[in-house]
Amino acid sequence: MSNWEEYVRTVEPYVPGEQPNQPDMIKLNTNENPYPPAPGVVEALKNFDTDKLRLYPEPTCKVLVDAIADYYGIRSSQVFTGVGSDDVLAMIFMTFFNSKKPILFPDITYSFYDVWADMLRIPFETKALDDNFQIRKEDYYGDNGGVVFPNPNAPTGILMPLSEIEDIIAHNRDVIVVVDEAYIDFGGVSALPLIEKYDNLLVVQTFSKSRSLAGMRLGFAMGNEKLIRYINDVKYSFNSYTLNQTALVLGVQAIRDREYFEETCAKVIATREWTKCELKKLGFSFGDSMSNFIFATHERVPAKEIFEALREHNIFVRYFSKPRIDNYLRISIGTQQEMEHLIAFLTDYLKE
Ligand SMILES: *Cc1c(COP(=O)(O)O)cnc(C)c1O
Repeated sequence: MSNWEEYVRTVEPYVPGEQPNQPDMIKLNTNENPYPPAPGVVEALKNFDTDKLRLYPEPTCKVLVDAIADYYGIRSSQVFTGVGSDDVLAMIFMTFFNSKKPILFPDITYSFYDVWADMLRIPFETKALDDNFQIRKEDYYGDNGGVVFPNPNAPTGILMPLSEIEDIIAHNRDVIVVVDEAYIDFGGVSALPLIEKYDNLLVVQTFSKSRSLAGMRLGFAMGNEKLIRYINDVKYSFNSYTLNQTALVLGVQAIRDREYFEETCAKVIATREWTKCELKKLGFSFGDSMSNFIFATHERVPAKEIFEALREHNIFVRYFSKPRIDNYLRISIGTQQEMEHLIAFLTDYLKE
């Protein structure tokens, strides 16, 4: 009998939303952007010099770091980039969450946090959202090993005011507070300006949602330069060449085109508000989402039944069979036309 299994790092992996590939599907299950990447991205990919692929990419990701710093009006030494914000967050967990005290995050939130904590053997404690699915800032004031939460929160879509976020940061000066702003561009107010005031704050963003580049895998963190240096030390000890040559070139194009970015975000927001009105008329209720999805429950029909009926008609949304949220659907915002199809189907399906 061999016993190598005793020494395996066993983990229960994160389960991403499925990536079905049906010709006529309406895909509203993983919060992707329904609009194409910026025209400059498309152009740069067409003209990409494939000879570059012989060479390792530049390990500091300088071109992209500089472009992000330039866009947000901060210094390049305040920016870290990674393979999607999942990679950035995992690096942050590894770098800063080494206390024996538990890190804190909400009970209903991005389901990758507890997976990273488990994998890296980081103790954690979850804090229950209130009955309206709001984060209670006071829950995060006690002794802890670090704090992480998304703003707006996922999968609720609910935005926390900046003043409350600042309260949490100010109460946690001895640990790192991570604000995961994957959805901030859809109408929220970023905590970014607070990085000048608090050296324990990291703001994490991604190109996957608001910049239509989920498939390119680009994310970044912004914070005090000392924090950024520490994350880079860990990154260079793990995998130096994180962003590939194509990702660097396309990321720069995506971040430079402010106009296209603002236009597509505005379209998603307008469609989201339209969808909220229509869903309400059909008997759904939901928190006031400031993201590119709506987390809704129906007054009469169980979420799981609606989920399955939609699926049968090639409309994919996300359903989580987890305590407190197993009667909710998370519906990503697609194009206006896709949402009109969804509403038409639901109107017919929910007729009594
Ligand atoms: C989508 C998402 C991410 C990660 O996205 P990447 O594609 O890895 O950049 C991180 N946090 C939250 C809350 C998300 O919803």
